[in-house]
Amino acid sequence: MTRSYTIRTYGCQMNVHDSERMAGLLEASGYARSADPADADVVVINTCAVRENADNRLYGNLGHLAPVKAAHPGMQIAVGGCLAQKDRAEIVRRAPWVDVVFGTHNVHALPVLLERARHNETAQVEIAESLEVFPSTLPARRESAYAGWVSISVGCNNSCTFCIVPSLRGTEKDRRPGDVLAEVAALAADGVLEVTLLGQNVNSYGVEFGDRGAFAKLLRACGSVAGLERVRFTSPHPRDFTSDVISAMAETPNVCPQLHMPLQSGSDDVLRRMRRSYRSSRYLSIIDEVRAAIPDAAISTDIIVGFPGETEADFQATLDVVGAARFGSAFTFQYSPRPGTPAATLPDQVPKAVVQERYMRLVALQEEISWEANRALEGRVVEVLVATGEGRKDGATRRLSGRARDGRLVHFSPGAAGSEGSGIRPGDVVEVTIGYGAPHHLVSDSPVLTHRRTRAGEHHDAGTRTGVAPTGLGLPGFGAPLTKGKS
Ligand code: SF4
Repeated sequence: MTRSYTIRTYGCQMNVHDSERMAGLLEASGYARSADPADADVVVINTCAVRENADNRLYGNLGHLAPVKAAHPGMQIAVGGCLAQKDRAEIVRRAPWVDVVFGTHNVHALPVLLERARHNETAQVEIAESLEVFPSTLPARRESAYAGWVSISVGCNNSCTFCIVPSLRGTEKDRRPGDVLAEVAALAADGVLEVTLLGQNVNSYGVEFGDRGAFAKLLRACGSVAGLERVRFTSPHPRDFTSDVISAMAETPNVCPQLHMPLQSGSDDVLRRMRRSYRSSRYLSIIDEVRAAIPDAAISTDIIVGFPGETEADFQATLDVVGAARFGSAFTFQYSPRPGTPAATLPDQVPKAVVQERYMRLVALQEEISWEANRALEGRVVEVLVATGEGRKDGATRRLSGRARDGRLVHFSPGAAGSEGSGIRPGDVVEVTIGYGAPHHLVSDSPVLTHRRTRAGEHHDAGTRTGVAPTGLGLPGFGAPLTKGKS
């Protein structure tokens, strides 16, 4: 009997990438994706450990699964990802109905551990201390027919005091450029139009094989991959963000005019205690250099409010940098101590009410700036890669959705024939005129100017027809509430 599986993914894009590998591994081992996750024979939970409620979410999930498993003979539960790497056997101690616990360094072991647990009728906990097999070398079951995640490195050599990633994903390991480009070319040959290059710190790519200019070269090399229309990357680090990368972005046509660069704080004193190795002036100088080279670049960021010891003056410094940088959008977080990180034991933890009040002020300022930036695009013609999903329904109008080249979310009217009648499919490319700029998205209700049917659109359609609908996870960028790993 073919056993079915379902994967629940939490956290950052790296986890999304790894889940596609887990799915590919299981399908290569004879499992089939469960049409209804509730009926799956195998439930895999790919966990995140970045935020406080990550634990609650995992153990809450496992609590709900206990009666499901009791009613479903032969069902197995596997827990992977960063929280598994951190908690290890503790997961089986707290939830003895879990069959497999595997870590971030041994994703490849999942099918074997499932078989061993079934055969021995005992839980299998296997955590590797360092990377055994690059997840990117494993078979993938991709979620999207038109966009792909390509990991260029795993792990991180930095030691930001609020971050648990280095202790769970290890020091940085870089893939060889040739392997990365081969994967990018294979995706493009398969009709994928957009790739996102993934790493905890893409700017230090090449440090492991001694080439500090490797990331800029990689971006340029992506420029000559036939059929590849859009290249994005995440996450850069301001300390290592060099001019050769900015030139590569500006001079390589398929590299999108979008940059997501975490600031975390605008206060140099707080940045010092976060061990971020740059200061606000350096950060703003990068923004200026990017804007000089790519005037239409959409720039977004991550900001933590309420880091231990943050004073009102420190917070004001953050507001000042936000005011100067004019981000198109920002992921904003209220600091929460993460057990196992140096910052969790720092003195002067900021009271929750103070954090909350500052957080609201930051969100209000950024909302104003985002809205102003989006209103400035009214009347502009933008190219949209149509995304999966039902789009947005405002009253009677059902709009389709997708991403502009700068990553902005666009909702557009498919025309009188409606989304079905228009023949516009996820993966196709359209050009529309922006009629309204909202705080977190753009809207077009005027007729679609051009509609390019693509192979990605064919593939997406084909996927839909076989009933195993590829579930788009949405593209990172403006407005996509995809929780981000720290960077
Ligand atoms: S925040 Fe990013 S750069 Fe800093 S340690 Fe974590 S993963 Fe590395």
